[in-house]
Amino acid sequence: MLSYRHSYHAGNFADVLKHLVSVRILRHLKQKPKPFMYLDTHSGPGAYLLDSAQALKTREYETGIAPLWQHTQLPETLADYIAVIRSFNPTDTLNHYPGSPSIAQHLMDKTDKLNLFELHSTEIELLKQTFAGQRHCQVHHSDGFQGLQAKLPPPQRRGYVLIDPPYEIKSDYDKVISSVIKAHKRFATGVYAIWYPVVERQRIEKMEQGLKESGIRNIQLFELGLQPDTQEKGMTSAGMIVINPPWKLKQEMSECLPLLAKILGEAQGDKQAHYRCEQLVEE
Ligand code: SAM
Repeated sequence: MLSYRHSYHAGNFADVLKHLVSVRILRHLKQKPKPFMYLDTHSGPGAYLLDSAQALKTREYETGIAPLWQHTQLPETLADYIAVIRSFNPTDTLNHYPGSPSIAQHLMDKTDKLNLFELHSTEIELLKQTFAGQRHCQVHHSDGFQGLQAKLPPPQRRGYVLIDPPYEIKSDYDKVISSVIKAHKRFATGVYAIWYPVVERQRIEKMEQGLKESGIRNIQLFELGLQPDTQEKGMTSAGMIVINPPWKLKQEMSECLPLLAKILGEAQGDKQAHYRCEQLVEE
């Protein structure tokens, strides 16, 4: 039984990192005038309201998108991410926060293809509403890990896969790695991004080790943390591991991450925020 609802967490620091990286990857793929496929294994509902009861209950966006929203001196790549979020808000007031599939659709064309997977019975209905009438977006009420294998390689031979499970089930940490290794065998040139939460650091170290031993080349890791690692409950940091990253991604992230850590650290009233920006496996 799935209980996770992303509406409690929309626009938090982990979404900022995930969606910033996604925007960079999508912009890069759009540079070539050739169609590609976007596959979101864990789509969520696709759209969020920051004045919803769920968002207001946690107010996680206050140490995520909110402090960046009014910032006037952001580097180009961060400003570009904010511009994408602005395009979902009709006025200067931040209230709409798009999910990963909406961000992708916004940056893609009708010639591109989106495959969106979601298992939760409520979230899938919301996702269907978000993408109603969009014929190039296929919404699937099924398991994203299975859907990933079924849809690869894409007919376009170009693609970006986002793997963003809630990790409610602890076996997801291993499943993400085995799924990406299998997917990479079917489609070695695709761009893959794996989102992860740091709740127990050992689980992330195991994921990193699994990828290092997989034989897959060219893997980068970007992480943003609001708190130091702890033995207590709760997410302290979050990261994105990217396979076959765009050639400029690491440089762009090395410019953004120190500032993001500074702004979000100040937003929570202390200086604890930190980041990682690493080449996990060489090309
Ligand atoms: N990717 C979304 C975004 O960035 O806006 C957020 C997704 S949320 C972290 C994870 C979603 O995965 C939840 O909506 C949950 O219902 C869904 N989910 C959990 N297990 C799944 C599975 N095996 N296949 C597809 N969806 C799943």
